[in-house]
Amino acid sequence: MKVEEKLALNKYAPATQAHITVNKGLCADCDLRPCVYGCPADCFILKEDHVSFSYEGCLECGSCRIICPKGALQWAYPQGGFGICLQYG
Ligand code: SF4
Ligand code: SF4
Repeated sequence: MKVEEKLALNKYAPATQAHITVNKGLCADCDLRPCVYGCPADCFILKEDHVSFSYEGCLECGSCRIICPKGALQWAYPQGGFGICLQYG
């Protein structure tokens, strides 16, 4: 099974507000863009000359918060029980 197929099995309670926001002004000077390679859920996608971010598939692992060299991310867990479902029953 490919990673994409495994990710498609995840269940989410979709939040209407992003729990991670990106200061794109700081991204402009980021050469290596480690978020693109470090996010296990492909939430950061390199598009030509910029990085596109979507929070919807986030696994809440916190990797991007640690590896971003510019401190460009405002990061918090989704509030109100939204986000990825990690427990069942
Ligand atoms: S690692 Fe941080 S600064 Fe660099 S592109 Fe990603 S979010 Fe922007
Ligand atoms: S917390 Fe993890 S899964 Fe979510 S965007 Fe950051 S690196 Fe990706």
